[in-house]
Amino acid sequence: MKEKSMEWNHMWIDGEQVTLQETFEVYNPATGAVLAYVPNGGERETKQAIDAAYRAFPEWSKRTAGDRAGYLLDWADRILAHHEELALLLSSEQGKPLAEARGEIAGTAYMIRYNAEEGQRLAGEIIPASNPGQKLMVFREAVGVAGLITPANFPAAILAQKVAPALVAGCTIVLKPAEQTPCIAIALFRHLMETGIPQGVANLVTGEPAAIGNMLSADPRVRKISFTGSTEVGKILMRQAADHVKRLTLELGGNSPVIVFPDADLDAAAEKIVSNKFENAGQVCNGINLIYAHKKIHQELVDKLAERISRLQVAPGLAPDSQVGAMIDPSYLAKVERLVADAVEKGAKVLTGGRRLTENGLGNGLFFAPTLLDEVTHDMELTKEEIFGPVAPVLTFEDETEVLERSNNTPYGLAGYVFTRDAARMFRMIAGLEVGNMAINGTSLAYPQAPFGGVKASGIGRVGGKQGVEEFTELKYVALTFE
Ligand code: ADP
Repeated sequence: MKEKSMEWNHMWIDGEQVTLQETFEVYNPATGAVLAYVPNGGERETKQAIDAAYRAFPEWSKRTAGDRAGYLLDWADRILAHHEELALLLSSEQGKPLAEARGEIAGTAYMIRYNAEEGQRLAGEIIPASNPGQKLMVFREAVGVAGLITPANFPAAILAQKVAPALVAGCTIVLKPAEQTPCIAIALFRHLMETGIPQGVANLVTGEPAAIGNMLSADPRVRKISFTGSTEVGKILMRQAADHVKRLTLELGGNSPVIVFPDADLDAAAEKIVSNKFENAGQVCNGINLIYAHKKIHQELVDKLAERISRLQVAPGLAPDSQVGAMIDPSYLAKVERLVADAVEKGAKVLTGGRRLTENGLGNGLFFAPTLLDEVTHDMELTKEEIFGPVAPVLTFEDETEVLERSNNTPYGLAGYVFTRDAARMFRMIAGLEVGNMAINGTSLAYPQAPFGGVKASGIGRVGGKQGVEEFTELKYVALTFE
């Protein structure tokens, strides 16, 4: 990887590479080295991008879905043809282990393919009429110019999860990537531009988050905002959207529990909890925040978790044996340190980890040891806030009603995980947990064909599935009298 690469020194506006005098630095979080200087765009560049997207919309939205899908399928092929190079960039910029980065890049291509295909199956409806000689018809139309704002934890996959459904539905787009991870977005856009997609259909603006966000919200020509990130910023965007009653898809924070009942397969539960909890160093929006272990199996589960967690290899993402890489942002690491210190002060027991790692050459990076905390109680801040880091807190419970009440006692409602073999209990948990997504006897949720999203303060709308494409459309209903 060329450090300070000039490859990432531009935005994409109206089909052109745009550079700026003013730039910001992007770091490799494993080493602290500067990876790139990226244009620090703001209101002016965002307006130019909206102008371009608005000009491109009439022609793009009139094309057939099959035609639009063709560009996306070509894009997916190009991404797969550059798979390793993109995975190396993703790991260097974001910090995740190369194995995970490879998985994310492959997932990015599959996400694009799925949306390209699903977008061709979107259909309207003809409803039986109330009068003879009449047809009641429902059309699906592209919503217009869409503003897309993506986070740093899955900067490739989430980009695809927004760009692909928007484009196949007939929207034109202005995308703002997270300030920690603009390079992978710039690289993915280069491959998109190489498909020959018409000028102005897809625009990328890097830079000042609030200035770009404000502009996307303030311009009435942007008809839709799709955002993935913190609940805090989601609320800002929702307030701003009110002025134009702008359409919103919001994928926000969570406080997701996993509940392990005594009849569960504890080896499988431990295995799957650890793979969920420590993926991407715990920076996963639907990652497990709290582990509720039934009193009867608490000790056995904790032992199995401790054994697996203490074996996890922490190393820079590009090291061959890395299983847990650097955290993406110093503020995320600081939050984890604060939450662990608060929990320990209030009586939590550290079974493994519990501190920042600085030895063995990790000192310049943002590494936190995979951590297991036992004897966690609800007065500790980490039971209320999203940890977003490699820390697994264990609480105990005795009965189903009590654990449901405790799990639902949060403003969030993103994901819930349950381990049990009892079918009746599974359905009681499905009915009882106030979440948008659940996994039972597993901890994987993110699939291109599944509608993912939150309830309560975890969001509005869904990404993925046919619903994810529908989010970029509006219905137009027509009562046609022909006799
Ligand atoms: P996280 O806490 O997961 O980093 P953020 O909500 O801070 O999430 O960031 C997610 C995305 O939102 C990033 O692209 C970030 O730049 C962007 N963002 C931050 N502040 C604003 C804002 N005021 N308006 C629009 N986007 C913003």
